[in-house]
Amino acid sequence: MTRVVVVGAGPAGLAAAGHAARAGADVTLLDQSDAPGGQYHRKPPGAPHGFEAVLSRCSWWPESTVWAVDGNRVHVLRGPADGAGRRRHVLEPDALVLATGAHDRTLPFPGWQLPGVFTAGAAQALAKGDRVAVGNRVLVAGAGPFLLPVAESLLAAGAGVLAVLEANPASTVRKGWSWRDARKAGELARYALALARHRVPYHLGRAVVEARGDDRVREAVTARVRPDWSVVPGTERTHEVDAVCVGHGFAPQPELAVAAGCDLDGGFVRVGADQGTSVPGVFAAGELTGIGGADAAAAEGAVAGCAAAGGVPDRALLRERDRLRAFAARLAAAHPIGAAWPGWLREDTIVCRCEETTAGELARAARDPAAPGPHALKLGTRAGLGPCQGRMCGAAVSALCGTAERHHRPIAQPIRLGELADAKENEA
Ligand SMILES: Cc1cc2nc3c(=O)[nH]c(=O)nc-3n(C[C@H](O)[C@H](O)[C@H](O)COP(=O)(O)OP(=O)(O)OC[C@H]3O[C@@H](n4cnc5c(N)ncnc54)[C@H](O)[C@@H]3O)c2cc1C
Repeated sequence: MTRVVVVGAGPAGLAAAGHAARAGADVTLLDQSDAPGGQYHRKPPGAPHGFEAVLSRCSWWPESTVWAVDGNRVHVLRGPADGAGRRRHVLEPDALVLATGAHDRTLPFPGWQLPGVFTAGAAQALAKGDRVAVGNRVLVAGAGPFLLPVAESLLAAGAGVLAVLEANPASTVRKGWSWRDARKAGELARYALALARHRVPYHLGRAVVEARGDDRVREAVTARVRPDWSVVPGTERTHEVDAVCVGHGFAPQPELAVAAGCDLDGGFVRVGADQGTSVPGVFAAGELTGIGGADAAAAEGAVAGCAAAGGVPDRALLRERDRLRAFAARLAAAHPIGAAWPGWLREDTIVCRCEETTAGELARAARDPAAPGPHALKLGTRAGLGPCQGRMCGAAVSALCGTAERHHRPIAQPIRLGELADAKENEA
């Protein structure tokens, strides 16, 4: 029987596990979280998750973090991330499905390091997972359809939302949002209704370009921006706020795929028609391969699970995956990142929040002929060398310095020195 390990129990991983099991494989599904569902199906602690049918068909390992992959060896730490006594395991499957998802992408602007400025995903996780409202006067801003569910969840958690600001103009956004996809149209209508019921305006072509406050964010400056996101002078407005949620899309988490030797394409894992990567036996699905939302992630997972189990994905599965992928491509065209955003920055604007590297330092380093390339730039300015290892600032630093983003992080997840030093590996 083919042994399949699926890393990540979000929409992609759950679909992969279900389809691999249905195709007759012996499936181990693991996730660092204590509940299945990933980002999309996040629930408050103890709430029913509804994935019993899938989990009953495989070995389900919650609170299990894959911290490294070498060859076909998958290194796992089992136990709560904040508890002592996690146990090390090594799995050696015949096929591996990576479905590790993505994390928030946020562009820097003056003051974005202030307490009270949240990434849209963090605000969403607090609202959906913990019923915590981040503020009473909240601005939700950035780019992409994700801003709408964030506003909806904030309102449901009792937050006051002043406005939702999409930086792209209506002419650009219209490119992706056709009414062809009935389900998406229904979702849009639901968000529009939630905003209308709470009298929350949705503005296009406007962005948060500065956050102000001494101890925490107190004010946000918004401005009208052109299609390339350059600020239209004289359109700045100051708003009294107690929180700002900003999101400019998502960045994939490709560390395990890179460790396995998979090729990337623009930061995403490159996959073939059956979701196979450039490494035989390693498949990838979901936001790791492209940002397309939960439905696209699940459709990719279904194909990956089937192929990983040695089956041939049927044409209906492939068609559904391709349809949702096409929708994802239209969305990307509808909500691009405007190239002129660096114009929001000042000399002293922090870009790498972990190491407090400023835009001015980066600009000087990028011009220095004695320090060519991303490696020297990183060592010289310390950008990307802090606790998040460039996960938050990497894309911004590359855009500002004209270099390629590096994804080589041999340790994919934090591991304590004691755990690393412990020679014992446990049987799976
Ligand atoms: C914070 C956040 C909140 C979001 N909320 C929403 C929302 O409310 N609505 C919406 O439409 N979209 C939301 N999204 C977008 C969402 O990510 C996707 O549309 C969808 O969930 C993608 O599915 P996925 O299976 O590819 O990844 P995910 O759902 O992200 O699942 C990936 C899973 O992999 C696990 N994982 C990652 N690395 C490891 C590892 N090394 N070891 C073990 N497990 C690992 C994670 O714990 C996670 O459960 C959110 C995104 C983020 C980042």
